[in-house]
Amino acid sequence: MRYVSTRGQAPVLSFEDAMLAGLARDGGLYVPEVIPTLPWNEIADLAGLGYEETAFRVMSPFVGDSVAPDALRALIDRAYAGFGHAARAPLVQIGENDWILELHHGPTLAFKDFAMQLVAQLFQHALAARGSRVTIVGATSGDTGSAAIDAFAGLDNVDVFILYPHGRVSEIQRRQMTTPTAHNVHALAVKGDFDDCQALVKGMFNDHAFRDEMGLAAVNSINWARVLAQAVYYFTSAVALGAPHRPVSYSVPTGNFGDIYAGHIARSMGLPIDRLVIATNRNDILHRTLQTGMHRIDGVEPTISPSMDIQISSNFERLLHELLDRDGQAVVNLMEALRQQGGYALPDAALARLRGEFDSGRSDEDETRATIAAIHEVTGQVIDPHTAVGVKAASDARGRPATPMVVLGTAHAAKFPDAVEAACGVRPDLPPRLAHILDAPERLRIVENDLAALEREIRMEVRS
Ligand SMILES: *Cc1c(COP(=O)(O)O)cnc(C)c1O
Repeated sequence: MRYVSTRGQAPVLSFEDAMLAGLARDGGLYVPEVIPTLPWNEIADLAGLGYEETAFRVMSPFVGDSVAPDALRALIDRAYAGFGHAARAPLVQIGENDWILELHHGPTLAFKDFAMQLVAQLFQHALAARGSRVTIVGATSGDTGSAAIDAFAGLDNVDVFILYPHGRVSEIQRRQMTTPTAHNVHALAVKGDFDDCQALVKGMFNDHAFRDEMGLAAVNSINWARVLAQAVYYFTSAVALGAPHRPVSYSVPTGNFGDIYAGHIARSMGLPIDRLVIATNRNDILHRTLQTGMHRIDGVEPTISPSMDIQISSNFERLLHELLDRDGQAVVNLMEALRQQGGYALPDAALARLRGEFDSGRSDEDETRATIAAIHEVTGQVIDPHTAVGVKAASDARGRPATPMVVLGTAHAAKFPDAVEAACGVRPDLPPRLAHILDAPERLRIVENDLAALEREIRMEVRS
């Protein structure tokens, strides 16, 4: 399987090289040259298999001969061994044909663990074979950072630097990043918002001298291997609800467009997904794009679902590349307009295709709180604010009741205890395995929103 850049000007790479590279050298994102499909009967055969075996069957065609099959199967087993639920991603029923797919049973209590634990195993495997080392830099609005720090802590050939917006992540999220003691992981609090952090990471990658000197690699949601790992739980959940014999719909709390794009990949592979609902909080650039055809940046408003407080959804470029018939120059033109004019109009044909494949919904802060309260009252479940945004959008977009509607439950409520308690009166407890972070000493560095200063900082801290 070969991977090409969305902007068409970077070298064509294997799965492993695209994973190690992260962002492509032309500033684009790697996508598979073709999306392999799983035939109907092979999807039917997934019924009753464990999570790891399904992961192996879904991912193998994309990995190709980059990793030997036995090695891949062993890496998958190791990645999910630390999860706190035998199903890895269990379904919980919240209505007649309405479900939450719980993705919070990993070590840091958010869906990011599904991708990050596996990507850490894949990195370790690749670097050990090559005898090389890398410096991972990533931007996080909260959950990616803790997932990366947990997954890579203590690995020999990797240093990790995670940039997060100072004062804009929850205390639990911050403590998950600042309390690990391994010397190869670093939390950097940037004086800015998430988009500033993301721009700094892109800036470091586009500084080719720095990139080569440090051996930069990325594991934020632009990394193709992460998207691929997230396609797996669409298969396990859809098959559990009757696919491929009947279709299933999903509502996905969306920020950087990685998780929902993974659903789009699953559907492109042949999984019968009916509706894919982009659920946004009041940072609703994607909802507005679907409604108006204008993709326009409009400032970031802090919310009680901070992992979705984003205006530039990086992975949307991957979909754009498809909507523009894989024309790299057309992608470059729109991304330039986004950078210089703060937005672009989608061409008519692309907009029609976008609307044909996705729905969208929006939840403001009051609606999110009301949804947490309503779900608690009706089902006894305590859900986190991100998941609540998904539940709200799902009920607005509800199509045929005969088609199951699955909301991706993206985080554990205990990651956002204040917001959840204010909404439904119940203060969710951290699972016992995480309780120690509440009084462990914190280690972090506050840095200016300045590329040169940041590069100096990283040069100083990297192990030689
Ligand atoms: C990252 C995250 C999201 C958004 O996912 P994207 O892949 O960036 O769209 C939603 N909810 C939670 C809890 C997250 O951590």
